[in-house]
Amino acid sequence: MNMPVSSLKGVGKAREEALAKLGVKTVRDLLYLYPRSYEDRGNIRLLADSVDGEKQSFCLTVATEPKTARINRGMSLLKFRAYDESGSAEITYFNQDYLKPSFKLGESYRFYGKIEHKKTSSGVRHLMSSPSFEPMPPAGAPALSPLVPVYPLSAGLTRKFVTSLVMTAIKLCSVPGVNGEDTDIIPPEIRERNGLCTSAFALREIHCPGSLASLAAAKKRLVFEELFCFSLGVLSFGKKMRVLGAPRCGEGDISSLTAQLTYALTGAQVRAIDDIRSDMASETPMCRLLVGDVGCGKTVCAAAALFIAVKSGYQAALMAPTEILASQHYNDLEPLFSALGIRVKLLTGALSPAKKREVYASLADENKQTRTDIVIGTHALISEGVKFSSLALVVTDEQHRFGVAQRSALSAKGDRVHMLVMSATPIPRSLALTLYGDLSLSAIGEMPPGRQRVDTYVVDEGYRERIIKFMHKLTSDGGRVYVVCPAVEDKKETDEEEGDIDFSDIGAPHKDAEEEKPPMKSAVSYASELQKALPDRRVAFVHGKLKSAEKNEVMQAFASGKTDILVSTTVIEVGVNVPQACLMVVENAERFGLSQLHQLRGRVGRGTRKSYCILVSDAKGEAARARLEAMKTMYDGFAIAEKDLEMRGPGDFIKSSDTTRQSGAPRFRLADLCTDAKMLEDASKEAKALLETDPELLRHAPLRESVIKQFEKITEA
Ligand code: ADP
Ligand code: MG
Repeated sequence: MNMPVSSLKGVGKAREEALAKLGVKTVRDLLYLYPRSYEDRGNIRLLADSVDGEKQSFCLTVATEPKTARINRGMSLLKFRAYDESGSAEITYFNQDYLKPSFKLGESYRFYGKIEHKKTSSGVRHLMSSPSFEPMPPAGAPALSPLVPVYPLSAGLTRKFVTSLVMTAIKLCSVPGVNGEDTDIIPPEIRERNGLCTSAFALREIHCPGSLASLAAAKKRLVFEELFCFSLGVLSFGKKMRVLGAPRCGEGDISSLTAQLTYALTGAQVRAIDDIRSDMASETPMCRLLVGDVGCGKTVCAAAALFIAVKSGYQAALMAPTEILASQHYNDLEPLFSALGIRVKLLTGALSPAKKREVYASLADENKQTRTDIVIGTHALISEGVKFSSLALVVTDEQHRFGVAQRSALSAKGDRVHMLVMSATPIPRSLALTLYGDLSLSAIGEMPPGRQRVDTYVVDEGYRERIIKFMHKLTSDGGRVYVVCPAVEDKKETDEEEGDIDFSDIGAPHKDAEEEKPPMKSAVSYASELQKALPDRRVAFVHGKLKSAEKNEVMQAFASGKTDILVSTTVIEVGVNVPQACLMVVENAERFGLSQLHQLRGRVGRGTRKSYCILVSDAKGEAARARLEAMKTMYDGFAIAEKDLEMRGPGDFIKSSDTTRQSGAPRFRLADLCTDAKMLEDASKEAKALLETDPELLRHAPLRESVIKQFEKITEA
């Protein structure tokens, strides 16, 4: 299984590289290269019942000797007729003369492909051009699989080649243990308790499904395996981090910092800072999650932690998920710290290479008098070049946007560092523990005084004109408006491969037969339409695909009032602070989770202006409506998070949006945390129990190996 793929026939240098792009290096990796969908070839039609222009399966007998003909410019045509009981079809292949010997007169094949009907004076002719085909097995032999896998491809690989490689791998590996020994990495009692099939069965069925039912069983088992290994990884990983000694940061007096603030800390902030202070004074690395609703004032708690680290003689880092947010933190915090003689630098991907090198050097500088004390940045912070001379603390803002891997990569920069992660999406505790292991929790359950409530409305397209009038009115005296759309650009949503079974459909507990989804609004075209409707207002758009310099420019223009209306994707979701913003319009609101909507709503009502949130949705389904209606009465982020978890599963807390493809939220091959929430819970329980009896997995060596492998893959950024 650990043989390199290059040891298989037909895999030379070029294909080896192409396979590596798909993450396939060994024969084992081939087994875990799951199909991305399946063609349903099991539903065999009669030619007479075929539908023009659709992909279908037919069982046809070759009726004429296949003939090749040269047509112009070196093209050739292989042609024959084949029939079933209802009629006959003309089958052609272009430039594939070599297929000729594959077809024998009088033998039957399963053909799959698009059929065309051509009307002639004598009736309808059926034509199939380059269909896939498989010989029908002789009587008594196993029937053809109804579902044919479609593998992910990369340049230089054909579908046929990948399929045949996977089939070879299955043959090579189909010896499940010598002498009937059980080599399944999931112990039998765990399989039994959770109703899981064996690994051998699952791997065979995922590639060559005998039926939809066995495919669903296979998928269930493999999803469990992924989540189980992930949970084991998280649990043992969290522990490991805790064992290491961290720098003691004993200088807990923050009065000179708070003296700079224009407000008094709330009781909840004081308590959170107390937790942080006592963690940091100890040699056990802090591993604390700070949760609190949007706008509750987590940043100042982070500032206190940074301050304590620096006062104690160390460096500290603050990592934000977007450049916009990193710059904003920098702009807020730099003046505060520099007034106290603390050197703060910004490090983002947008800096020129020369500027970056400068920052790197000042972080690695051993001289306490000149080195940078605090660095604020995006994930560029964890890129190779960054070395700290004495890092003691890493604060990650909006942690649900980051993966375990990034956080650990950053903490690996200092031998043993204190970690503080902040979440504006109040992630339910149970889920936090499952995803992030052994964290302590501080919650800020109180808002700074004087906050207003954002009135929330749920409307449909019928309100379009009124919304535009409302925007006009609110922007007439300096108010700003956000519009959030789910997509960046217009695009066709349907895939060309209709008729295929999407992998995610298989064995899914319930496909919300909910409703047909209304079409997605896109930020770019929306902005231009809105500009036409409001010619005397300045409309701009921003989305994750823009260069970061452009993004910053657009955001600055909006913050300073050069633009009135900002149309965006969820780039602005986290953290952005524009006090004049008083209206948030969310288009296609049905596509967002409640926690996400709550986040978006939190962008307005930050100043003194009366603020509003309008959720626009044409979704007709009752569930979708009820979800949105809940936003009208729910204002507590924790309650909303719980409700979201209950209604949609944990996907919203970790799923990456268009800004954060690089986020490194755990990536699973099969598991989908939205639909497999229950499974994650079960897998995590089993993982915990197993670690109690065998903490190092020494008695489960193959499982241990798998966990390490899979955990690395999953958390790869
Ligand atoms: P979040 O928790 O969403 O990150 P921020 O830290 O950005 O919230 O704080 C939101 C706003 O509240 C900021 O403008 C901040 O200055 C202000 N703020 C924070 N704490 C207090 C407080 N105790 N009293 C008044 N305003 C506060
Ligand atoms: Mg924040």
